[in-house]
Amino acid sequence: MNLSKSLVWFRRDLRAFDHAALHHALRCSQQVFCVFVYDTEILDGLPRDDRRLRFIHASLASLDEELRRLGGYLIVRHGSARDEVAALANALDVDAVHACTDYEPLAIARDDEVARLLAAQGRAFHAYKDQVIFEKEEVLTLAGQPFSVFTPYKNAWLKRLAARPDTLAAYPVDAFAHAFAPPAASAPAPALPALEDIGFESGEPPLPAGMEGAEALFEAFVEDIADYGRARDFPAEDGTSRLSTHLRFGTTPIRHLVRTAQQLMLSGAGGNGASVWLSELIWRDFYAMVLAQNPHVVERSFKPAFDAVQWDDGLEADALFAAWCEGRTGYPLVDAAMVQLNTTGFMHNRLRMVTASFLTKDLGIDWRRGERYFALKLNDYELASNNGGWQWAASTGCDAQPWFRIFNPVTQSTRFDARGEFIRRYLPQLARLDAKQIHAPWLVKPEALAGRGVVLGQDYPAPVVDHDAARRRTLERFAVVKKAISV
Ligand code: FAD
Repeated sequence: MNLSKSLVWFRRDLRAFDHAALHHALRCSQQVFCVFVYDTEILDGLPRDDRRLRFIHASLASLDEELRRLGGYLIVRHGSARDEVAALANALDVDAVHACTDYEPLAIARDDEVARLLAAQGRAFHAYKDQVIFEKEEVLTLAGQPFSVFTPYKNAWLKRLAARPDTLAAYPVDAFAHAFAPPAASAPAPALPALEDIGFESGEPPLPAGMEGAEALFEAFVEDIADYGRARDFPAEDGTSRLSTHLRFGTTPIRHLVRTAQQLMLSGAGGNGASVWLSELIWRDFYAMVLAQNPHVVERSFKPAFDAVQWDDGLEADALFAAWCEGRTGYPLVDAAMVQLNTTGFMHNRLRMVTASFLTKDLGIDWRRGERYFALKLNDYELASNNGGWQWAASTGCDAQPWFRIFNPVTQSTRFDARGEFIRRYLPQLARLDAKQIHAPWLVKPEALAGRGVVLGQDYPAPVVDHDAARRRTLERFAVVKKAISV
């Protein structure tokens, strides 16, 4: 490729280093422009105080600053991305638009449409793998089929990486910076639009944003990575990296994280934590592959037999769903987790499993309702991992929790928040209960509860379901699957 002018379209890759599309565009063009579009097709469905917009806004400021340091600048548009990109490519008269591949079905349809509009103008559209280590069909079984179980996928993934270590090579940007189109001296590039200009409330991002935010979090996490294998299961501890939102918006490249994890494993400095953490990054690739190979999972169960499961609906289910969303189920760990989600936009992985299991297996509510709620609230929301996590918990998914294994929310609470620290942090009304009382307040004598300032049904709800009865109903609900599988 030898192009005169190119446009790099940033989407969920908001950084100016080790960036596949930017690297390729700069290498093959004489002049490179950069754009980000606040896409109304996505934004129109979001609440005006959405925290993710604040993260994106702050990350764009950091991206623009870095691009300017390198000699370029960021153009920001607000509108339908498919129209804006084609119109800008036309106005700048570029030969090609370059972007990093997005694997979500709606993004694929959008990119196909943009490629078609550009082709009609005589311009090319190039997409590059950047978001994952191995994509689509790069890791297959010996029979050439996609994997449907994680552990053999992980083993094949590691084997492929050992055979192709160049997969982790960074895509340098600095060395080709001379190709950036500079902001015009007569009309310096306009300042980035404020969130209010695009109809959203401004405010602090929910976590340190941008490339420097990602790096600061990563450096702090690496200090303690050796303990990750233990600490990762306890929500009251700060035991995980909190990098998911950065991975979602690409403020840090996945290659950098995998490289570092590998180095820490090789040097021994990462203890067993570094290899456990690498496995989590591989889960991310796994779910991206599952979505790319099985787009039906967006609407239906990964395993078709599970589409026969009848979830509860109607007024009672709606009331239970509202109680779950608002943290009013009467199960303290579940409620504290939902308050964490509602107030911060983050939820610890252990609690995502507990709350998703509670919604589907204690309340009998369709996993898709919970998945949509998480999609609205999570700062790190991404379709592949969210869908994978929900179908895992509901037992409908790829390499999922078996349907007859049902988390007991009280046992989960005593195991993973034994002293009740996490619960107290998010449910201050229970703060005076001791470590024995706090996991199941309905089992405590009312006078003892009152002595600690809690009247059940007044200060804190009584449980909305009885776990043992709910468990029996769930086993009956899934009997239909047992029949289908044994036929
Ligand atoms: P760490 O423990 O530090 O892990 C490092 C990275 O590995 C994460 O940032 C993430 O990119 C990846 N990772 C970790 N666990 C998983 C996993 N189980 N599946 C896929 N990738 C993983 N993760 C999302 O990024 N977006 C989602 O929308 C999402 N929804 C989920 C819904 C449910 C019901 C469940 C059970 C899990 C979901 N996860 C999701 C996975 C996981 O909970 C989060 O990635 C993790 O809690 C983020 O915290 P962290 O960055 O501190 O993770």
